[in-house]
Amino acid sequence: MSEAKPRDYTKEPDFVKKIVESLHPERMYLKVKEIIQETPSTKTFRMVPTKGKLPPFRAGQYVNLFVKIGNVLTSRPYSISSSPTKTSYIDLTVRRKKGGFVSNYLLDNVKVGDEFETTGPMGQFYYEPLTDGKNLVFLAGGSGITPFMSIIREVVERKLDLNIWLIYGSRVPEDIIFGKELEEIAKKNKNIHYSVVISEPPEGYKGLCGFLTRDIILNQIGDTEGKTFYMCGPEAMYNFCDAELASLKLPRRRLKREAYGPPDDVTLEPGWPKGIKADDIFTVEVVGKKTFKARAGEPLMNSLEREGIVIPAVCRSGVCTTCRTKLVSGKVFMPRTVTLLEADRKFGYIHPCMAYPIENIKIRI
Ligand SMILES: Cc1cc2nc3c(=O)[nH]c(=O)nc-3n(C[C@H](O)[C@H](O)[C@H](O)COP(=O)(O)OP(=O)(O)OC[C@H]3O[C@@H](n4cnc5c(N)ncnc54)[C@H](O)[C@@H]3O)c2cc1C
Repeated sequence: MSEAKPRDYTKEPDFVKKIVESLHPERMYLKVKEIIQETPSTKTFRMVPTKGKLPPFRAGQYVNLFVKIGNVLTSRPYSISSSPTKTSYIDLTVRRKKGGFVSNYLLDNVKVGDEFETTGPMGQFYYEPLTDGKNLVFLAGGSGITPFMSIIREVVERKLDLNIWLIYGSRVPEDIIFGKELEEIAKKNKNIHYSVVISEPPEGYKGLCGFLTRDIILNQIGDTEGKTFYMCGPEAMYNFCDAELASLKLPRRRLKREAYGPPDDVTLEPGWPKGIKADDIFTVEVVGKKTFKARAGEPLMNSLEREGIVIPAVCRSGVCTTCRTKLVSGKVFMPRTVTLLEADRKFGYIHPCMAYPIENIKIRI
């Protein structure tokens, strides 16, 4: 029997490129097909492709959504909340942030038919069967429910053999996103456990109240043995839960956390220099391009975008390294969650998405 001749892909670079681009597109071109009001402060934007097909993604991943607001071209990452089993659309579920630039714009202005550009699906906040085991504890805060929703929907639809304990912290009951669907899922699927913890309960509220404490977590899950923890939510939740989880002595590999953007008030971050206020103004010189003034308390990337200088960005949380930029002189503050390569630290590279000027600075893009 003659063996099939191996295909020589080096002779077909366009073929390979096409396959790679369809699986990992740099950009996706999407149109809003439907808008679902989830809660008074949250909407889901159901997006369909205007060109080609959607690429596959792993439940838990996000896209960076580009928006032009006035003269400013900016972007924000949003986790995909729909299941990867739905291949004709992706859902982005956006919660209003008080004073937030993009979330308010999306919630107040976007209509069915509006078109957007996003990155392809990104991020590593997903279930990894090789390392994560079969027992998963999901700690969600506010809009941080979105990646978990995608994972849970997939687990239910594909009947995956996993046990999930979702503990969802919300300020008030009206803010709970996907509450009805989650209750239904937990009722019908013995392997999905769902509990809500309300931090500002209305009078007479009978459920769990407060924050996601060690005791509340243990009461819901029994013990930590063989369980992998995932955490997604606002900065304040991480600070609180980190301290609570520390006493559980989880091995590091058993705790995954999603990045969630810049802190609400960077001056409260550990290491912020004494004597510098959020409203202090410093000069930013972009070599060969422009010099302008920027606030210390605002991520440098936002100030740059306002000046019409757009740096490629994906996570906007200081972890993906896409926006890596050379700091020629001066100092910036970067919160401890920013992950810089040792070589970048040594040779003066910064991540402008989470770098705050604390002196007059000069950068090269
Ligand atoms: C991986 C990932 C997934 C995410 N998924 C979701 C999701 O599914 N749903 C969701 O609702 N959100 C999600 N987010 C958060 C989202 O990306 C945005 O951060 C959120 O919508 C707020 O954006 P905004 O433009 O409204 O607020 P911004 O205006 O960006 O404000 C956010 C913070 O940036 C700083 N800042 C920005 N501009 C200024 C300024 N002019 N002066 C001072 N400080 C400033 C402040 O610290 C402020 O608190 C996710 C974030 C990440 C990183």
